[in-house]
Amino acid sequence: MSETYDLVIIGGGPGGYNCAIRAGQLGLKTACVEMRGTLGGTCLNVGCIPSKALLHASEMFEAANTEFAALGIKTGSLELDLDTMIGQKDEAVDGLTKGIEFLFKKNGVDYIRGKGRIAGSGKVEVEAESGETSTLETRNIVIATGSEVTPLPGVEIDEKRVVSSTGALSLDKVPGKLVLIGAGVIGLELGSVWRRLGSEVTVVEYLDRILPGMDSELAKTAQRIFAKQGMDFKLGTKVTGVDTSGETLAVTLEPAEGGEATTIEADTVLVCIGRRPFTEGLGLETVGIETDKRGFIANDHFRTSAENVWVVGDCTHGPMLAHKAEDEGVACAERIAGKAGHVNYGVIPGVVYTAPEIASVGKTEDELKSEGRKYKKGKFPFQANSRARTNHATDGFVKILADAETDEILGAHMIGANVGEMISELCLAMEFRASSEDVARTCHPHPTLTEAIRQAAMGVEGWTMQS
Ligand code: FAD
Ligand code: NAD
Repeated sequence: MSETYDLVIIGGGPGGYNCAIRAGQLGLKTACVEMRGTLGGTCLNVGCIPSKALLHASEMFEAANTEFAALGIKTGSLELDLDTMIGQKDEAVDGLTKGIEFLFKKNGVDYIRGKGRIAGSGKVEVEAESGETSTLETRNIVIATGSEVTPLPGVEIDEKRVVSSTGALSLDKVPGKLVLIGAGVIGLELGSVWRRLGSEVTVVEYLDRILPGMDSELAKTAQRIFAKQGMDFKLGTKVTGVDTSGETLAVTLEPAEGGEATTIEADTVLVCIGRRPFTEGLGLETVGIETDKRGFIANDHFRTSAENVWVVGDCTHGPMLAHKAEDEGVACAERIAGKAGHVNYGVIPGVVYTAPEIASVGKTEDELKSEGRKYKKGKFPFQANSRARTNHATDGFVKILADAETDEILGAHMIGANVGEMISELCLAMEFRASSEDVARTCHPHPTLTEAIRQAAMGVEGWTMQS
């Protein structure tokens, strides 16, 4: 008879694999069941990593096309080799997913390939690709099954001409006309990739703004910059259908409030209106767990309503981000090991990896206003930052929000080159409950983009020196 596990994790994405590695480190007998054929989940296989590989390559292509000459670099005429660009993306994915298998071995985690299903308390049934089933006995079960694309009724995704993010990461040619449904993170990132490679991009968004949930001043600036780069935004507009019968696609649009329909042409349509938890067919009923209407499994410090069944990542509430899933996975393993695992949901950064990048942490100005909280604000434009000037990357700003009385930093919002890296300084400051003055009086190296953070922090108390 096989040994009982301390925990069996269903799902090998950032939530599941980090939970497994931490559990292994803590000496727990751990297995991770994954049905995809590779570890790493959405993030490594069809999410964060492949999208960033294409964002990087396409940004280089655009820079070579439009910026090199002004720097005194002559390239002659450029040519896109899309197969190689997609190939290097696949190589990055392959290397990183295999890396997790290595980390599992290193930490004594059993990687079990197959589809997992809870089969009552302490039991996980695994169906291998061959159809063969086996049952794992375990003291704890962690659900880390992630999320899937939210479909749009009336628009059928075929991953060829009407694609989700997965199809948009592997198109075999650059679409002449690309229509994005949804001006969220995926739309703006993948829309940027294909625009840089030559597509004419139209973004159809139901709301009257892009990037809902992010600071609205940031979103407004971002939209202005992306429009200047050539993206056409149709806000307050809904897609009611995509006719696929002709050689080109016919996309029907209507004002969000209802009204006269219009039609635009597209070679490719990307549906990116959000993701939904992937919790169907998991055997939740065998342990009495119910999901909410949208499919999310509720948790209290990662515990579900069923004893010794835990949940982390996209399939439970909170932002659908890889680092949120990772932090939950780690804290969950620590709790199972009897430690005090914890996630500070007030300090989870969000980054949009466009050019310029957009990064946020903590409360937005809109949230502080609606909460009626008194705050002070410091803002500094990259136009006045010396490194941004030498790099010809002067778009954007840093904004820091602090409590009007205590000066504790409540939020930070940035748009500009490299802000996805720079936001971590503010995350650390907020974890230590720093005041804006703490950041303003910290020596920052010159010349760097991070000096814009310091100047914005000075601005909270009205003594910005360099603008
Ligand atoms: P997932 O990564 O979805 O992993 C769940 C895994 O469980 C999957 O591999 C699935 O096959 C497996 N599974 C499900 N059910 C079963 C079962 N019954 N048995 C066995 N296995 C099962 N986030 C960021 O923070 N930064 C980014 O830059 C970023 N970019 C993204 C780009 C795109 C295009 C997309 C789609 C997402 C992006 N995300 C990004 C979001 C990020 O990918 C997710 O938040 C993250 O992957 C969630 O991790 P998870 O472990 O909860 O779930
Ligand atoms: P999203 O929630 O970021 O954006 C979806 C957008 O679609 C919203 O602006 C919404 O108002 C709009 N929308 C919804 N229904 C619509 C309709 N019928 N017609 C037109 N517009 C409509 O979702 P996403 O961009 O699909 O991304 C999914 C998830 O993946 C997000 O939760 C995100 O956090 C994660 N992700 C993160 C990153 C990153 O961290 N850099 C990158 C990609 C994806």
